[in-house]
Amino acid sequence: MIIGARDLIKAVRACFSAFFVVFLLLMFGSKSQTKDQSEAIEKIVSFCKRRGFVFPSSEIYGGFAAIYDYGHYGVLLKNNIRDAWWRHTVQLRDDVVGLDSAIFMHPTTWKASGHVDSFDDPQIDCRKCKSRMRADQILELFGVSADKAPLDFINVELEKLRELGKLTCQSCGSTDITPAKRFSLMVKSNLGSPTEELSEKNVVYLRPETCGGIYLEYKNTLDSTRVRLPFGIAQVGKAFRNEVIARQFIFRTREFEQMEMQYFLNPKDMKEKYEMWKDARWKWYLEYGLGKDDLKWHKHEKLAHYASEAYDIEYNFKSLGGFKEVEGIHARGNWDLSRHSEFSGVDLSYFDEETKERFIPHIMETSAGLNRMFLMFLDKAYNEEEVDGEKRVVLKLDKRLSPVKVAVFPLLKNRPELVEKARNIFEDLRKNFMCEFDDNGNVGKRYRRQDEIGTPYCVTVDFQSLEDDSVTVRDRDTMKQKRITIKEIADFVKKGLN
Ligand code: ATP
Repeated sequence: MIIGARDLIKAVRACFSAFFVVFLLLMFGSKSQTKDQSEAIEKIVSFCKRRGFVFPSSEIYGGFAAIYDYGHYGVLLKNNIRDAWWRHTVQLRDDVVGLDSAIFMHPTTWKASGHVDSFDDPQIDCRKCKSRMRADQILELFGVSADKAPLDFINVELEKLRELGKLTCQSCGSTDITPAKRFSLMVKSNLGSPTEELSEKNVVYLRPETCGGIYLEYKNTLDSTRVRLPFGIAQVGKAFRNEVIARQFIFRTREFEQMEMQYFLNPKDMKEKYEMWKDARWKWYLEYGLGKDDLKWHKHEKLAHYASEAYDIEYNFKSLGGFKEVEGIHARGNWDLSRHSEFSGVDLSYFDEETKERFIPHIMETSAGLNRMFLMFLDKAYNEEEVDGEKRVVLKLDKRLSPVKVAVFPLLKNRPELVEKARNIFEDLRKNFMCEFDDNGNVGKRYRRQDEIGTPYCVTVDFQSLEDDSVTVRDRDTMKQKRITIKEIADFVKKGLN
């Protein structure tokens, strides 16, 4: 058999993709994974690579653990999720304003917030194969709730397992496991000082969460805008955590994006506003295509000493084998502003003109991971169907989230009059929508390519279009075609997206 250059390239690419999937599975695979779950995540990982949604970072150097890059369609999807969040959190509300604070902040910020001293996970190591594990996660497997538990408690519980011979390495099965120790999640940098002189005195941190910047800009926001209590400040941005283990594709990474909103209020309003935000956030998920059964509330039983209530929204990931946190909604008391006031010496109290009260505002937050939501929407939307005996992969995303909204095709590539007309339609539509022009292969194949990336509408220019300026518009979900005029396309798409 003679293999052409294109086939060879394809074969090499296929090998790389297969290698990449195996590599990732080894990275985040665990013995407890079921076959369905492994298949589900394998499909999503290889799909993300093949269609340019997500790539492992620094692949040509062998990859870089728990860091990922977002390709063309990935950026588009991520931006659309971010915009959907921003629209509901800021644009459609009177009581929330925006912020984009820096990643680097004065190091005292993280001393005041408690991160420098206690933002850590309990780490245990296998002495035989050197695998690293999170002790709290191991204990959870045996029904011991150890989330944010003190190290002493964790070590006592680990010893009980050790005595029963149940404390084994997740990778090699060895029982030679170290006791738990503190593993700080803070990522350090030497900004402003030479690397070789990096010490606890001159270290700066890459922020582990975006809300730190919001607390520091609370006063400037209050002084420069017309907001009064209760009000929120929202921001989207990168956060960095030196996660002990990060093995679940983009679910848990060391560099990620958060979408956070901190709501400042008088403590007497906490209960009401907390319920308001819980309700608003829950409805947001339903509005963007999640079903009630896909989601559940997880109430935190152990609360930080300053917190009065904490719930997470969890999504039932097919690809990760069950419900996992995508967003936290927490009532944090006045801890944050009190601490920053104490450490900076700046008065961050608020004077209420109506009640003539002065107090440090209390805060409730909604804190969501953009990358986790990305995985959540893909997990929900990825479908394989059989159409006329052929497999079709389709991303049934909410149309507003789809990376590309319209694809335009000339029926035949070798008929300049069809190509020109299609190109004109494309140039016109792209001013308002993310569009793609495709004249490669037969129309059926072009539909499949667009279904895979979740494009809601495909417009085809055929011979009838030359006569009466009409086109066919094909719907991703129903696969039905409709004939409309060229003039109607933009409105048709706009309506469909709303
Ligand atoms: P987890 O228990 O999963 O580690 P967390 O409770 O520490 O999360 P928060 O500090 O409340 O998370 O952060 C808010 C949100 O940020 C989380 O709900 C999640 O969506 C996202 N997030 C947190 N850590 C990561 C990470 N390492 N990678 C991706 N997203 C993350």
